[in-house]
Amino acid sequence: MFKKILIANRGEIALRVIQACRELGIPTVAVCSTADRESLHVTYADEDVCIGPPPSSQSYLDIGSILSAAEITGADAVHPGYGFLAENAHFAEVLGECKLAWIGPPPEVIRLMGDKAQARRTAAAAGVPVLPGSAGPLASAEEALALARDVGYPVILKAAAGGGGRGMRIVRSGEELAAQFRTASAEAEKAFGDGSVYLEKYLEEPRHIEFQVFGDRHGGAIHLGERECSIQRRHQKLIEEAPSVALTPELRQRMGEASVRLCERVGYVNAGTIEYLLDRDGSFYFMEMNTRIQVEHPVTEMVTGVDLVKLQIAVAAGEPLGIRSGLSPRGHAIECRINAEDPVTFAPSPGRLQTFHLPGGPGVRVDTHGYEDYLIPPHYDSLVGKLIVHGRDRGEAIARMQRALDFFVVEGIKTSIPLHREILRDPEFRAGRLSTRFMEGFATRRTGGSS
Ligand code: ADP
Repeated sequence: MFKKILIANRGEIALRVIQACRELGIPTVAVCSTADRESLHVTYADEDVCIGPPPSSQSYLDIGSILSAAEITGADAVHPGYGFLAENAHFAEVLGECKLAWIGPPPEVIRLMGDKAQARRTAAAAGVPVLPGSAGPLASAEEALALARDVGYPVILKAAAGGGGRGMRIVRSGEELAAQFRTASAEAEKAFGDGSVYLEKYLEEPRHIEFQVFGDRHGGAIHLGERECSIQRRHQKLIEEAPSVALTPELRQRMGEASVRLCERVGYVNAGTIEYLLDRDGSFYFMEMNTRIQVEHPVTEMVTGVDLVKLQIAVAAGEPLGIRSGLSPRGHAIECRINAEDPVTFAPSPGRLQTFHLPGGPGVRVDTHGYEDYLIPPHYDSLVGKLIVHGRDRGEAIARMQRALDFFVVEGIKTSIPLHREILRDPEFRAGRLSTRFMEGFATRRTGGSS
């Protein structure tokens, strides 16, 4: 087992990794920017190293500084969390050259699945259904036009290097396509330094269903069931749950088997997530694979009883998985992302937490780096915490989430709590009638049809 783990991240996920390490008896090293000196991950880690100024390009993304921090402190493994360097194949390679263990999949697998067009081809080759569309990046607007005619409108243009819902464009007719192609490509170039764009059929009201997968270094590959992440705004997840009300045990098994097949095909090791779109007729299509731990991993932990972060560490140290695929989900879990933002405009709302009172009681878990008097720096993402509940069934989980949201008191900044309370009251949400367009319908219901 590892002697000391450096966590190349900040915020709630850095804290989550520290919790796992503490339970395993492994000392931790936190890294922080000068804006994060008062952060809880620094307080709770056994050691800490300041690696640079607030901009992440000069701190959390600075590979040289992170390597120096590992060297100085004698860490022998690095956990990347999610975001920042978590899907950076080059970082994983450099760590290997420096004889530091990487708690994640092999660099070549990160690279393969990180290119969305290549990932699509790989999924298709593994017999996982993909939406009709381009085999690779499109060379020109003319090629896009010809393909869209074959596939049929609407289509969606996506950045091959995409992420976080950026660089995507829905196109409903041939007249718009050329202009949208150029916009998507320019946007992708600006956001990811790579203007490659591909095209696929756009589904009107699909559900976003993703499978938690895990591989070990002995050829073992399993899935740990699904998460429903259809409640999104601007293609960003807001509420996640496990299991999905849309999956029968039979569909769960088929999607799970497809997920495991893809893992086996690429030699997947460590935690990963395979994202699908589930159409109204029960067809499912591969969308992308995330080669890291996800923000929403706790809902899977709640219904499977598996500590995914401890499993990541064990697998990286060479241990076999020791769990079988397809555990039946136990009860129902829901996660609400608590963002420091205006619940109406979604504008970020950083600032000082004047009151920060966490809910507790049966079946409630809060993953957060916040505390009373903590100053949320404006330099990073707006997630201040995740409120997760577990109930015997979906009804109990919803009631539990409602009272936990009521008892979560935050003053000093605006948060997404009021929005979550409204969504939890919404009849469509309560009935489990979800799709990735849920928030559009919700906005209309909320304003009584005036928007
Ligand atoms: P990102 O990596 O930027 O998050 P994804 O490919 O995971 O992008 O897509 C994010 C979201 O965009 C999905 O959850 C879904 O809501 C929507 N989306 C993506 N592709 C399609 C499609 N072909 N049809 C309908 N919606 C889509």
